[in-house]
Parts: sequence; structure tokens; C-alpha cells
Amino acid sequence: MANIGYIQVVRHCNHFCGFCSNPTSPYTHDFESMRVLVDDFVARGYFGIVLTGGEPTLHPELPRIAAHAAAAGLHVRVITNGHRLADPAFARALAEAGVSLVHVSIYSVRPEIEARLRGSEGTLERALAALDAAHDAGLELNLNCVINRLNADHLDLNVRYFLRHHPYLRHFVWNNLDPSMGRAEVNQAQFTPRLADFELSLHRAMRLLDRSGRTFRVEKVPLCYMTDFAWASTETRKIVKGEERIVHFLDDKQTVRQTGWGHRYAPGCAVCSLRSICGGLFDRGDAYDPAELAPVFIDHEAIVERILMDPSDPSDGRIATVAEWKARFEGPPATTEPTVIPSPPSEPGMVPVGRVTEQGRRLYESKRRQEAAKARRAGIEPERPSSIKNK
Ligand code: SF4
Repeated sequence: MANIGYIQVVRHCNHFCGFCSNPTSPYTHDFESMRVLVDDFVARGYFGIVLTGGEPTLHPELPRIAAHAAAAGLHVRVITNGHRLADPAFARALAEAGVSLVHVSIYSVRPEIEARLRGSEGTLERALAALDAAHDAGLELNLNCVINRLNADHLDLNVRYFLRHHPYLRHFVWNNLDPSMGRAEVNQAQFTPRLADFELSLHRAMRLLDRSGRTFRVEKVPLCYMTDFAWASTETRKIVKGEERIVHFLDDKQTVRQTGWGHRYAPGCAVCSLRSICGGLFDRGDAYDPAELAPVFIDHEAIVERILMDPSDPSDGRIATVAEWKARFEGPPATTEPTVIPSPPSEPGMVPVGRVTEQGRRLYESKRRQEAAKARRAGIEPERPSSIKNK
């Protein structure tokens, strides 16, 4: 199993997305507090780490922690909005530090939609420049996109644009909006799509990529909304391969280890042939409607086989056949909520995630004031204030 861990290295950002699920918090990291988390992933035998945020390129020690992780044998990835990465020198610095892969987030190739979603002008141009800068620096690139109410109808148009203008992009990732946290939680009505809003454009987008020989993953979308491409569901792949995910949140949640990948199901799911490999409806924010789910009756073993046989996906190869998979995993569906490791951590090896210093607290208060003004101008609600447990 190729587990990949997540570390939020900062929580502030130079954009102001109305659906941000991980906005500013009073917690901060320095190199040492990040290093212990990286070393823990190495000790657990993880394949790689994702350095994320907030906007991780705003942390001055990002190249240094990336270099430490790469030297320890981890595959190092960074998720970014591309603002700093558009600088070719910065892109080269990340490549030289040992970053293997960057995920650049772009929600829409329509500049006015991207600007509205990002809460600032000019972001699309800069993110597109980041793609070129990263490519020129020799970094492998993924295109990330959060599906939301404003881009739901043109996911395929985005793909067409990237295939024409940035043909070196080989892998795409869609995340359906997480409406349970941060600004996404308090602005659900503006940004949370209905599943039916994106069904057609997502299908067209996946078909375009599949036909062009590219790969893609889709997270938080129930399989009945992507049956032809069910093998591309992140949750389904993790269920099939028995993978876990640890996320070190730079806030009160601290460390979350997720081993169950199912979310919420409708009564009809009980008769669906995909129930044992489906993540269901991601609805911790109670924003999506279970009435939109509809059982399907297709061969789930063909989906399992395609995932197990995928040569492009790192895996430890311990489960090689569908028969082995059935023996190991198939049975009554497991429960589904992620395991939250309490803070202060009770498990050996776990350490507090980040610190709350007086300076961090002052910066947080000042950022909250600036962002309240931005929120008023953008017509969105600011997130609820962050509490502080880990002092
Ligand atoms: S009906 Fe339920 S189990 Fe079946 S694909 Fe949809 S969400 Fe998954």
C-alpha cells in the first residue's frame, strides 16, 4: 500500500476563496515542528508526503523541509495556487530542493469566474504562468480543481483549454467541495453544487482526458455520478487497496488518521452493486442531498481489477488479484468516520502539530481583521473564529 501523508505547513493564504475549508488559524510551524512530522511518516513507511496549507509556498522554510523529506526517501508533493510558483527562480528552487510533483489549483479558465472564486483579480494569468514555470523547471505537474457551484457547468471546457494550451499536463484531480469546514461551511448556499449540476460536464471532462491518454482522480463524488470512470474515484481506490491517510491539520483538529473511506449513504445504496467499494455521499456539512443518489447494477469486480492492475499507481503489490482482494477486503461494509487522534496525542510517536505563539496569535488577529473587510467586499461570510487547544 502506498500511503501518502499530508502536512499543512501554513494556514494563511494570498488568495481569499469563499469556499476555503482550511483558512487562517493561530497555529504556526517552524522547521523543527515540521521535521518531526516528516520523520514520523518515514518511520511509518509512507511512500510520500503532500505539503499543503493555506498556501504552502508562503512558508519561508518550504524548500528546506522538502529537501529534508526527499533526502529521507519520501516522494514530495506541494499543492499550490501558483502565485509564487509563477516565478521561474522559485520553481527551480523547489525542483532543486527535491520536490517531485506540484499540484497547481485552477478552478476555471474563465477569468471572471476564477477571480470571483479566488477573491482577487489576475489569479488565472498567474496560475497559468506557474504551470509553464514548473514545467520548465522539470517538475512533474498535476492540475487540481475544486468542483463548486460556479464551475460545475464547464469542467470539460477547462480540460479542453488545458489540452490545447498546456499539453504537457498529464494528470488531473477533481475534488468535490467539502462543505463542512471553514468558509465553505458558512457559505454553502453560494458555492456548494448539486451533484446533478456537474454530472454531465465532469463526464465529458473525464472522457476527454481518457481519450487523450491522460490520467485523473475524482474525490468526494459518489460512484453513481461517475460509473464509467469509477476506477478513478480516490475513495474507491483507497477502499480497494486498503490504504490509510494521515493529515496533520494546523489547527485544533491536529492529527486525523483516516482508514474508513465511506461517508453517507441513502437507503437505495443497500441494493447497489457498488456499495462495497463506494465512498457514498460526502456530507459532513449536511449540504448534499442523499435523494440525489441512485443505485447502479454493474460489475464491481471489473472496477477492482482495473485499480489493482493500474501500472501508473504506486502500490506495494501485496494484493495482486481480484481473488486476493476478495479474500482480504470484501465483506460487510465498514463504518466510515475518520479516526481522530485526540490532542494532546495519546499515540506513541505522535507530537503536537504546530505551535501557538504570541506572535502567531497577533498575526492571526490582524489577518482576521483584514479578511473581514475582504469578505464584506466579496459578499461572503467569514469563517467562524478558530479556537486554540494546543498552547
Ligand atoms: S447508490 Fe450509493 S452505493 Fe451506489 S454508487 Fe450511489 S452512493 Fe454509491
